[in-house]
Amino acid sequence: MEVKTSLLDNMIGVGDMVLIEPLSEDTFIENLKKRFDHNEIYTYIGSVVISMNPYKSLPIYTAEKVEEYRNRNFYELSPHVYALADEAYRSLREQDKDQCILITGESGAGKTEASKFVMSYVAAVCGKGQEVNKVKEQLLQSNPVLEAFGNAKTVRNDNSSRFGKYMDIEFDFKGDPLGGVISNYLLEKSRVVKQPRGERNFHIFYQLLSGASDDTLKKLKLDRDFSKYNYLSLDSATVNGLDDAASFRTVRNAMQIVGFMEDEVQSILELVAAVLKLGNIEFKPESRCNGYDENLKEMCELLGIEQSVLERAFSFRTVEAKMEKMSTTLNVAQAYYARDALAKNLYSRLFSWLVNRINESIKAQTKSRKKVMGVLDIYGFEIFEDNSFEQFIINYCNEKLQQIFIELTLREEQEEYVREGIEWTNIEYFNNAIICDLIENNKNGILAMLDEECLRPGTVTDETFLDKLNTVCAEHQHFESRQSKNSKFLTDHSLPHNCFRIQHYAGKVLYRVEGFVDKNNDLLYRDLSQAMYKANHSLIKILFPEGNPAKVNLKRPPTAGFQFKASVGTLMKNLLSKNPNYIRCIKPNDKKAAHIFTDSLVCHQVRYLGLMENVRVRRAGYAFRQAYEPCLERYKMLCKQTWPHWKGPARGGVEVLLTDLQVPAEEFAYGRSKIFIRNPRTLFFLEEKRRQC
Ligand code: ADP
Ligand code: MG
Repeated sequence: MEVKTSLLDNMIGVGDMVLIEPLSEDTFIENLKKRFDHNEIYTYIGSVVISMNPYKSLPIYTAEKVEEYRNRNFYELSPHVYALADEAYRSLREQDKDQCILITGESGAGKTEASKFVMSYVAAVCGKGQEVNKVKEQLLQSNPVLEAFGNAKTVRNDNSSRFGKYMDIEFDFKGDPLGGVISNYLLEKSRVVKQPRGERNFHIFYQLLSGASDDTLKKLKLDRDFSKYNYLSLDSATVNGLDDAASFRTVRNAMQIVGFMEDEVQSILELVAAVLKLGNIEFKPESRCNGYDENLKEMCELLGIEQSVLERAFSFRTVEAKMEKMSTTLNVAQAYYARDALAKNLYSRLFSWLVNRINESIKAQTKSRKKVMGVLDIYGFEIFEDNSFEQFIINYCNEKLQQIFIELTLREEQEEYVREGIEWTNIEYFNNAIICDLIENNKNGILAMLDEECLRPGTVTDETFLDKLNTVCAEHQHFESRQSKNSKFLTDHSLPHNCFRIQHYAGKVLYRVEGFVDKNNDLLYRDLSQAMYKANHSLIKILFPEGNPAKVNLKRPPTAGFQFKASVGTLMKNLLSKNPNYIRCIKPNDKKAAHIFTDSLVCHQVRYLGLMENVRVRRAGYAFRQAYEPCLERYKMLCKQTWPHWKGPARGGVEVLLTDLQVPAEEFAYGRSKIFIRNPRTLFFLEEKRRQC
């Protein structure tokens, strides 16, 4: 670590949090604020990058900046996400180490923007040439496509990703990109049929209606007017600064670059149109489906479905009991429920299909061994007033990420000490493994119990699930030690009706149990999947494989919780096999505004991102380390024996220097290639001396 004055400049605060003296939450936040006020949005904690969202464009992402950071030592220049990207890419290329870049933070904190900066940096510095450029272009253009279908305007962010994304970018031995693989996590599909006040549906709906030609809209039987569609919220249909029509052209263009065929694009848009039509279908008590319902008719035309088939599926439900098939009539509420379930399923399956289709295009064309850089952009911890199944799942994922963060940060520290031959002092830290266990334990974890309820015959409700939780988790608390998982399942008398509370590493969260069973079940009546399968439409057919009558025995798809747990498991395995690089994003205010820094809000995020813990770990042993050569180079002027030239190994020079300056022996340790300094004060002392020189 080379100390540039930029890391220690008093005016703009310190560039690395390990250098803060004294360290407290207050000084930590004060430092962030000082830097933020000077447009220094990046700050390090060792090799971790903290990124503050400036909510305005800064001139720090230019081609010149890329050149500046290219091939430079991590600590040479002022903190930047490019420095992290450069370090990761260089280790990948030169040391043959697979890398992953983990970006966390709450909604609107700047995760997605950061992931794009990383990708564009890597694209700018890695190989050139026609073939390589095509691969790069495809990788970059997958973003607008996924954002159109997976992002929406929310209260917190005008371009909020409503899905988690992990992308592996693959390189050959020279460091040229070969292709990539994208995984998506848990699209927020409830948004398709209903949006909270002040929010919108997914961008693509508005983009299509605003940007498609008259001719296209006519073919899709659509009206340009947003207000014609029940599924589109109207109070915020147009968003300042978002040009839906222009975005539509960008998306169409991106799809072409990624490699979508014209007829595929047409099919995709037909499905999008069908969802809008679906939302307008109405049901009446006398006859469930009105055969003259224009929307129903048009939806069937779009998807090549025989109208009577769909009408029937919205009117009756086949239940199988004791080898017998029975038909029960749906009441109006059930018909609407079925309609919305179909819309959500249609859209989310379309989304997954899109991801697969993009993967098909961008996958590497070679089977030879590859080096990989993974980029994870996933929702941060969520603590709302009202927390439901979605928050539960998201927070579970964040617990897992925190776990690998702890494990890997400590492991990395430890490994460096071993490598350098320095004695390792154990660091006390909070291990959140028991919280993960409370949620994911196969036997009596919360997810397992939820699945058990969902699959159990008989009457299953959110309340029976809650009863079960309370019985199992609360009861065992009496017998188990404080460090058991159930100690994180908080029971107290202040708990509102229908809720349970978990002590997450980031804080206590109260979950309302309403909807847990339903969302986990994620059921679509078989009659509907069969109706979809019968469609004379190439795309829709493959989205509903369980509707194939030849496969009536095909088991129901696994529950949402089960699927998520499995994909998180795979993700963790993948991440653990790589060298991690962290970007921790922080949102300065709740107004999406530049120049405003709300202390309390920042403080909250610093806490749940575990940043103080992070600094503590980093400082617990030796706060600061630097290779002997640059260290000697920087401070040799402070000692007669080393100035101007030291003859002999640099390590000897540093030893002479520190002895001469009477730095106490317990303040440093000599590693194989680096000097380790325990306290940042020592560093300040050296810097101060230098200034006086
Ligand atoms: P997240 O993915 O964490 O929810 P985004 O990355 O979408 O948040 O950022 C939200 C908005 O904040 C962006 O649309 C952009 O306007 C602004 N923003 C984020 N990071 C930056 C940055 N580094 N420079 C300028 N604006 C930014
Ligand atoms: Mg995002």
